[in-house]
Order: sequence, then structure tokens, then C-alpha cells
Amino acid sequence: MNREAQAAGWPESPGSGPLGDGRCATAVHRPATVDELCEAVRSEAASGGAVYPQGGRSALDYGGTPARPGAAVDVSGLDQVVDYPHADMTITVQAGMTVAALQGVLAEKQQRLLFDVPGGDRATLGGALATGVCGPRRYGLGRPRDSIIGVSFVTSNGVEVKGGGRVVKNVAGYDFPKLLTGSLGTLGVITQATLKVRPLPGASALIWLRADRPEQLDAWLAAFHASAVRPVAIEFLNPSAAAIVGEPAGLDGRSWTLVVGIEDDEKSVAWQVDQFRREVASEFDVLRDEATRPIWASLTAFQVAAPGPLACTASLRPSRVAAFLAGMPADRWALQAHAGNGVVRMQGLGAWTEGEAAEAVSARRAEALRDGGDLIVSRCPAAWKGRIRVWGEPRGSWALGRAVKRALDPPGLMNPGRFVGEA
Ligand SMILES: Cc1cc2nc3c(=O)[nH]c(=O)nc-3n(C[C@H](O)[C@H](O)[C@H](O)COP(=O)(O)OP(=O)(O)OC[C@H]3O[C@@H](n4cnc5c(N)ncnc54)[C@H](O)[C@@H]3O)c2cc1C
Repeated sequence: MNREAQAAGWPESPGSGPLGDGRCATAVHRPATVDELCEAVRSEAASGGAVYPQGGRSALDYGGTPARPGAAVDVSGLDQVVDYPHADMTITVQAGMTVAALQGVLAEKQQRLLFDVPGGDRATLGGALATGVCGPRRYGLGRPRDSIIGVSFVTSNGVEVKGGGRVVKNVAGYDFPKLLTGSLGTLGVITQATLKVRPLPGASALIWLRADRPEQLDAWLAAFHASAVRPVAIEFLNPSAAAIVGEPAGLDGRSWTLVVGIEDDEKSVAWQVDQFRREVASEFDVLRDEATRPIWASLTAFQVAAPGPLACTASLRPSRVAAFLAGMPADRWALQAHAGNGVVRMQGLGAWTEGEAAEAVSARRAEALRDGGDLIVSRCPAAWKGRIRVWGEPRGSWALGRAVKRALDPPGLMNPGRFVGEA
């Protein structure tokens, strides 16, 4: 630990566990009830500490560095299903339940969550909502904020607040469920959420299509707009990413590759694959049903692969994705684009110095900003975070974020340092 951190009062030993970015917690609370959680928050507030919510601890390094000493509040003891009226296709679950356990409960009724979460046997629902994580099916099924209809959370005064409801038709009041989704534990500790769920699809196909050059993507995206095919995922991989994603299914992954995911009943999937052949491209490999599983899993897990110390996520217009990808060498970057949404997951390959990383981030961020997009750094060593702004260049909209933070967390108790405008 450096002298600066010691002077700021950070504990040297990880006796109470990690907070992320090499910082250790001053204490850990493991509430078994919401009342105990409220009490833990009140006691940290009274002692002038800080509250760092935790679930599966799989994404603790995400965001800015924790700014001042404080306690971990481990929500994993709150892991019950509160209500599951499956015929209404909603479920209310406590935030500490793992995503895999939740998927298991839903599967018993032939239903599923709509967003992809990597590492679901460790990641909790609260963590997934707090990080706003999503994967390849975002194109067809949306993000966590599109699934959530109700939320309960504990604010910095140690009181549980509820927003939204347990039924889909509920539009009264502030939309706390969407506000809390992606807020990274900086507005409150999520205790439970109500989600829309859907039936498991009867059939699934993954189309694997090689390209000679990245620019081919533009023609395919244009063809999709004119096509009757309704994929749930349109993924585009550079040769390095195609090798990572294709390997588990033995697919040749050394070229630019388009992966199209189709899910529906058997007849519809078969019809859509035929339609794809007529309207988009004629030569491709198709995986079906069980055989698609490893590829779905590796498309979902790509964002948490760590082939090097640096990972970024860019948001672009879909029409700019091919040009953005083409400018990056495949021996330095593995690149996965959720191409239909314009989101690019960038994994830096091999060794990088801080200077090389700062230069690359700055160049790619400038390119993204030029086109009205943005780029965040989703993973890098803590020591680099002072130089590489993980949330990008300050934007006018950050003032709104700060105002919401002040309104919901006036003492700045929750996850200080983590979020935009704070680092
Ligand atoms: C950048 C990034 C890196 C990732 N890396 C990995 C990885 O290496 N391995 C892997 O398996 N998955 C990884 N994931 C996916 C990760 O599993 C999901 O984001 C996941 O849902 C996090 O859940 P968790 O329970 O582990 O959260 P945690 O890691 O415990 O917490 C993540 C963040 O969410 C906040 N949080 C957690 N629970 C709550 C709550 N109840 N209320 C309020 N805030 C809360 C925490 O304060 C923290 O800031 C990563 C995701 C992202 C976005």
C-alpha cells in the first residue's frame, strides 16, 4: 500500500475483504434481513464511513477507485424469491440471489431472463442490475433496464425505498427501477427487484459467416434492415475475437466473422435461416439448438475474458462500427461488436505499458467522440486510473448525474469515487 493510501486511513490488511482496486474494507456487514441491512447503513453513516455494496464480487474493479475508507455491505444473504406469478411472466427476487440460481427457478417454468450475464454462478442479480451488464441478446431482448419494472433499495439514511411495482402496467411515480439500473451502487443498496421474464425459446440457431474485410459488415447491416429475419443477436468479431469465441465449438475463427443468433419456435427458426440465405448471404455455417450453447456462452463471456490488462467498451452508431474496428490491429486487440447496437467490446492483447494504454484509449476515444459516441475503460490496473479517465471526458450530462446523487445520497455515503464525475 502506498503512503498516500495509508495516510487516508485505508486498512492495510484485507481482513474484512476487498473493495476493489486494491483497497481493503474497514469492516464487512453480512445482513440476513433488510432490517439488518438498514441498520448497517445507519451505523456506517453515523460513524462517518462509507458503504460499498457487494454481491458476487466479480466486478469490484469496475469504475473509479474507491475514494475513502468504508465498509463492505455483502448482500448475498438476501437471496430469496419473493414472488413468482409465472403466468404473468414476472418475478420478484432479492438482490443477493445469483443469476444462475434465478435462471434455474425460471427454467422450472420454461422461462428465462432477457439479459445475458457472464459468470452467472457467482454474479448476483443486484450486481447485474448495478453494473447494467448485458451481452449479445441485447439486440433482440434489450438491456436490464428494459426488463426491470420494480426495485427496492436502501438509501444513505438507512431506509428502504420502493419504486415501480410487481405488475407490468405501472407507470406512476419516478422511474426508480431504471435509475438504479447501471448506477453502480452509488445511489443505494438494491435489496430486491421485479423483472419481466419470457418463455424459453423452442429452438435456436447461430449463423457463422466469414468476411474478407470488416467493411462487409455495412452491407450485411443494410441487408438486415430490408430483411424479414428477426435475429436476437448480430455480433461481429475481428479475427482474434473469432478465435476466442469459435474455439469451444471447433469453429474456424481466424477471420472477420458475423454471428447471427435466431431464437423462436422450430418452424420460425428454420424459416428465418432460409430467409437469411435468400436476403443476406448464401454461404455460412449453422449451429442448431444444443450445439449453439458453447457459442452463446463464449459470446456472453467475451467481455470478461482478460487476455491483457486493458479492456474498453465503445458506443457508436452501428454504421460506424466497421470503420472503427478496421482501424485496430488484430495482434493488439480482440474485438467483439454487438453490431446491431453499435457497442464494441475491446480486449487489449498481451502486455501493455501505462503509456501505450493511455495513448490507445485517447486515440480510440477521440474517434468515438467524433462520431457522437463515447468510450469507457471497463478494466485496467488501479494505478492507471489516475491517468486514463475510465468514464471518459467530462460531459454536460454529468451535472445531472451529480444532482441525482446529491438528492438521493446527500452525505455521499454510497460507493464514493466509483461513478462518473467523481474520479
Ligand atoms: C467491467 C466488468 C467486468 C466484469 N468482470 C467480470 C469477471 O471478471 N468475471 C465475471 O464472472 N463477471 C464479470 N463481470 C460480469 C459481472 O459478473 C456482472 O457485472 C455481475 O452482474 C456483477 O455481479 P456481482 O454480484 O459479482 O457484483 P459485485 O462485483 O459484487 O459488484 C459490482 C458492482 O455493483 C455494485 N453492487 C453489487 N451488488 C449491489 C447491490 N445489491 N446494490 C447496489 N450495488 C450493488 C457494487 O458496489 C459494485 O460496484 C464484469 C462486468 C463488468 C461490467
